[in-house]
Amino acid sequence: MIENRQFYINGQWVDPIAGRDYQVIDPATEEPCATISLGGTADTDAAVAAAKAALPGWMATPVEQRIAALERVYAEYKNRTEDLAQAMSTEMGTPISLSRTAQVGAGLWHLKNFIRAAKDFPWDAPLGDHAPNDRIIHEAVGVCALITPWNWPMNQVTLKVGAALVAGNTMVLKPSEESPLDAMIFAEIMDAADIPAGVFNLVNGDGVGVGSDLSGHKDVDMVSFTGSTRAGILISKAAADTLKRVHLELGGKGANLIFADADEKAVKRSVLDMMQNTGQSCNAPSRMMVEASAYDRVVEEAAEMANRIEVGVPSEEGRHIGPVVNKAQWEKIQGLIQKGIDEGARLVAGGTGRPDGLNKGFYIRPTIFADVTNDMTIAREEIFGPVMAILKFETEDEAVEIANDTPYGLTNYVQTQDGARANRLSRVLRSGMVEINGQSRGAGAPFGGMKMSGNGREGGSWGIHDFLEVKSVSGWSNEG
Ligand code: NAD
Repeated sequence: MIENRQFYINGQWVDPIAGRDYQVIDPATEEPCATISLGGTADTDAAVAAAKAALPGWMATPVEQRIAALERVYAEYKNRTEDLAQAMSTEMGTPISLSRTAQVGAGLWHLKNFIRAAKDFPWDAPLGDHAPNDRIIHEAVGVCALITPWNWPMNQVTLKVGAALVAGNTMVLKPSEESPLDAMIFAEIMDAADIPAGVFNLVNGDGVGVGSDLSGHKDVDMVSFTGSTRAGILISKAAADTLKRVHLELGGKGANLIFADADEKAVKRSVLDMMQNTGQSCNAPSRMMVEASAYDRVVEEAAEMANRIEVGVPSEEGRHIGPVVNKAQWEKIQGLIQKGIDEGARLVAGGTGRPDGLNKGFYIRPTIFADVTNDMTIAREEIFGPVMAILKFETEDEAVEIANDTPYGLTNYVQTQDGARANRLSRVLRSGMVEINGQSRGAGAPFGGMKMSGNGREGGSWGIHDFLEVKSVSGWSNEG
């Protein structure tokens, strides 16, 4: 069992000042796999003080040197990919093949995209030919608190740290207490990359402790948060008194519009997308909406696909799905499946209880409900498990109305071979992202939501922008 109670503050691993032990549970065995420490206010204060002290020096570091620092982080990250993959599989139950590919790979992808975007970024540029003495300067926001979830842990950590670092900010990372192990490896990566002391700090803790302390801290200039809408609201309130900038990446309830002319792989692809990472993705296409004329065929195909998905242990290689992250999530998902049955949805695959042959571990049966209406609980709440709802629509207008009838607005999906229709829909769907026919976003595209899915944009130049202040200087001398 791993024991690591230390935090990374001011360039060193230090013992907690006000910590208390916390056991990380392996969701595949339900047994503890690590003991860490959850920090207290004194630990948060020490990390924020280190970040504050390092800020003037890091802000003044030329951008070329900050890009070089990010390149070192990228190189060190590459050296630790297997350690990161193993950590994620143990602490949150991702099957090892997915950990090695998508989970670890997401971090490499984001760091690389930031390096490229930073090289092209207009850090300091004239306003335009019409105003030769106006200068637009981008500078760091300041001390940033980075609060991350457990579901795509390295994805979230790199999206925040990479952008904040290259933009000249200093930072305190508080990873999820469910997934601290990969984040501690990441702190080792930052150390190996010779990031100056105090620029990057890590304190483990929970939401009510370190999370709230950071959100309300007078010396924190910005909170960048990814997690539940519930916590996003609490963080916004805690941050209000100090008027700090709050960047939020929250939950989702993506609609996936399947038209009768969708390509032949659309249904299979959609079910696999939904079930990937055991349904624990904010952008999961969890409401499959099907044009009436194709409805019965699609329901049958989706159910068949779900029945073919295997559930298995994280340590084994393969394309199976693993357990969900913890007991609370397992119980919540079981309750929501039962609610779907009670509210009259038609269960066509899966159901309550564990899959056959798995008597221990937080495993869930890949579940699909048909005949769901948009007022049912399973169509409204983010389930965050391998559970998909299928709804029917008659017309394109009705599809848009149902898709937009949700508090969330993260990603919507369209499956049709009519390109004009797909483009038309992408303009009216209220979400930060629209994915057409399974084509994923390109390098450097912004990730983020509208409405209760948040207000930030992460990745590429947009991600860097979110960590910058924009300064407008008039009367700029062209002499120096
Ligand atoms: P969570 O909100 O419970 O926790 C996320 C992080 O916030 C953790 O580090 C936690 O300790 C901390 N936290 C919790 N309460 C807090 C508080 N009051 N003050 C400060 N910090 C607090 O979420 P989770 O269960 O870890 O992650 C799942 C959620 O994250 C889902 O809703 C999912 O949709 C969302 N998510 C969103 C995106 C996105 O980019 N939009 C990406 C991944 C996950």
